[in-house]
Amino acid sequence: MPHFRTEAERLRDRLIAWRRDFHMHPELAFEEQRTAGIVVEHLERLGYRVRRGIAKTGVIGVLEGGRPGPVVMFRFDMDGLPVTEETGAEYASRVPGRMHACGHDGHVALGMGLAELLAARREEMAGTAALLFQPAEEGGNGAEVMVQEGALENPRPDVFLATHVWIEKPVGTVDVSPGPVMAAAEKWTCTIHGQGGHGALPQQAVDPIVAAAYVVTGLQTVVSRNVNPLDTAVVSVGSIHGGDAFNVIPPEVQMTGTIRTYQPATRETVLQRVREVIDGVATACGAHAELEITPLTPPVINDPEVVEVVRRAAEAVVGPEQVGSGERTMGSEDAAFFMEEVPGCYFFLGAANAERGLTAPHHNPRFDFDEESLVLGLTILAEAAGAYLL
Ligand SMILES: [Zn+2]
Ligand SMILES: [Zn+2]
Repeated sequence: MPHFRTEAERLRDRLIAWRRDFHMHPELAFEEQRTAGIVVEHLERLGYRVRRGIAKTGVIGVLEGGRPGPVVMFRFDMDGLPVTEETGAEYASRVPGRMHACGHDGHVALGMGLAELLAARREEMAGTAALLFQPAEEGGNGAEVMVQEGALENPRPDVFLATHVWIEKPVGTVDVSPGPVMAAAEKWTCTIHGQGGHGALPQQAVDPIVAAAYVVTGLQTVVSRNVNPLDTAVVSVGSIHGGDAFNVIPPEVQMTGTIRTYQPATRETVLQRVREVIDGVATACGAHAELEITPLTPPVINDPEVVEVVRRAAEAVVGPEQVGSGERTMGSEDAAFFMEEVPGCYFFLGAANAERGLTAPHHNPRFDFDEESLVLGLTILAEAAGAYLL
C-alpha cells in the first residue's frame, strides 16, 4: 500500500492557507455559500463529478477510480458559529459576530486536501471516493437534511469516515474507539399549569413555581436511580421561566432541557422516567404538566471493523503509542444520521498545543487549534482511503 506522508507534507502550506481563508470568512448554518463555492470549484477542477445544493449548500464530489471497488464516503462539515472571535490571530474572522469556533474551517481544508491527493491516484484506485461537504452541523441537523435529499444514493457508500479536530487532546494524538462515541440528544419543553392568584392567599391558587422546583429536584433522580452506574446519561434543565411580580402566584411556568444517552434501552428508560417524574410530581403538587420531548440526533456509534482500518492508518502516521481509545462525549453530532445508514468511524484528531496557548474549548471566543493537526489528519484520512481503495 502506498503511503501519503510526503504528498500530505507537500500540501502543508495550501492546507493552512485554505483553513485560514475559511477561518476569515465564517458562514452560519445553511448559509455556507462562499465556502461551498470554493469547494465546488476545487472539486470540478480536479475532475470530480459534483452535486451541489443538497440541503441548500451541501456538496458531494465523486471520484470513480480506474477499477471497480467499494464506495468510501468522507464527511466534512462547513458551518461556523454566532460567536465574536477574541483570538487576536492575524487570520481572525473578518465577519462581526461570526466565528469558526469549532474547527470546521479545518475540516473543509482537510476535504480540499484529500480531494487533491485522491485525484492524483485516480487511475490506480479500485473503487469510488465520495467527498461530502455538509452544512449546518451546529444544531441545524444538516446531515439529516442531506440524507433526506438523497446524499447516500448514487453512489451508495459502503463505508463512512469523519473526523473532528479535538482540542481536548494534544496535537499528534488521535483517539478512535469502537461503539458509541457521541450521545443521542433530545430536547424537552414543559409547561407546568397551576392556577394564578395573590401571593398572600396561596390557598386560592395552585403554585406552579413550587411544582417546578420539585420537578427540577425530582429529575435529579432519573439518572442516579434508574441508569446502570456503568452506563451513562444526562438530564439537564436549561431554562425555567415563570412569574412577573413579587406578590403574584403565576398561572404557569415554562421549562426546557436536554437529555443525552448512548444505549437505546437506556434512552427508553430515561425518557420514560422523565415523563413519569414530571407528570407525577406536578400532579402531586396539584398542578398539571404538559411535556414534549423532541429527538435531535441519534448516537454516533462506530463500526468495529472500520475502526480497525482507521486505527492502523492513525498508528502508521502518529505512532501506536499516540493512538488512544475511549474518548467519548455527551455532546452530539449529526454525522450520526449518515452512520445510522452506513457503517463508519468518527475519530478525534488531537489539536491542542498548551505551549502555544491553544487550549480554549470548542465554541469559546478564544478557540484556535494547532494547524499541524491538519497535516496529520490529512495523512490519516488518505491512508484510510488507501486501505479501501488502493
Ligand atoms: Zn461545534
Ligand atoms: Zn464541531
